[in-house]
Order: sequence, then structure tokens, then C-alpha cells
Amino acid sequence: MDEDWDEELFEAAKELEEEIDLGVPQGMYRATVSGSRIQLVSLGALLAGTDSPVGTMFAEVEEAGVTIADLATSGDDDSGELTVTFLAAGDPGAEEALTRWAGLVGYRRIWFPDRVVDVGNGPRFMDKASVTCPGCRHVWTGGGRGFWIGIMSRRAFPAFCLLCGGDLPQWELLPRPTYTTDCPPLRRRGEGEQR
Ligand SMILES: [Zn+2]
Repeated sequence: MDEDWDEELFEAAKELEEEIDLGVPQGMYRATVSGSRIQLVSLGALLAGTDSPVGTMFAEVEEAGVTIADLATSGDDDSGELTVTFLAAGDPGAEEALTRWAGLVGYRRIWFPDRVVDVGNGPRFMDKASVTCPGCRHVWTGGGRGFWIGIMSRRAFPAFCLLCGGDLPQWELLPRPTYTTDCPPLRRRGEGEQR
């Protein structure tokens, strides 16, 4: 195994994230999309809405070419449905980036304000995903059945770095070797038991 993010590390990250959980319901996130990079944080009370005193500043973010959106899962998280509400829609590639990410973390459909997108097949267990920590520059890479089942069970990649404690963007799929084309996609939650 050459990945440096195993199940033990995944569990450690999960516990750390639960420790700093501010009591916000699971499945409510704010996503910031700039280029292909997605930064995800739990939707906390301190974050501004469009009706807050600083709400007009979302227009400035939009002008800067950045998208900020609130993401919510439906009441039954097993449905795999994700609803997106834009606060700033400055990045023209944001819907594509969010759709690609949603497929990797186990969502099935994504509801944008004006359309519903079927995200297609999920990851294959031989796939690998990676992210470079913006703080310490460590490159985290993960893959394998346990990694992907962990990602899809909580529908997000680990969101901060275990080394420096900084926030991590959501991870991106590494290019697939050709041999993975024969490997079927992993089943998502609600599609039957993981084998
Ligand atoms: Zn780091």
C-alpha cells in the first residue's frame, strides 16, 4: 500500500472534526469554489447569510470570480440528494466542480436552483484522491476500498490537515490508470450493502 492516508488516519480526522463540531446538523455545509478547488466548512451560526450586515459583500466575492454556496442534504441522508443554494455565483465552473465532487463523496443527485443533475457513477475502489495542504504543503493521498467507503459514508473528504491543523480543500481524483476501467464503481449508500 503506498497511500499515506489509511483508515486509522481517517478515523483520527473524523474524531477531531467531531470534537470541534459546533452543534450544526450533519449535512449542512458552506462551500467555496474557486477554479476546481472546493473548500468545505460546516455551516455554523457565525457565517453570514445574504440578509446579514455583511451580506452585500457576497456581490464582491462574485465579482472576484468566486462561488459561495450552502449545501444541504435532504432529511433522509441516505437518499443521496444534495441541494445547492448560491450566495455568490462568480465561478463559471462551480456547478461542474460541485457535481464532480458530489459524485466522489457518494451523492447521487444534486439540485441546483434551475436544474437537477444525476452525478453518474461513484468512485472505483482502485481510484486515488489527493490534496495538497495549503498550510504545510504536505500532499495527502488516499485510495482503496476502506478509504472510499469512509469518504462515502460521511459524504466529504477530511477537511483539515492532521499535521498542521490547517483547513484542507476537498480532495481531487487523481488520473485513473487504464486498468481501473474494468473495476466497477463502488455502491453508494442506499444502493445495497458494500461488498
Ligand atoms: Zn498541513
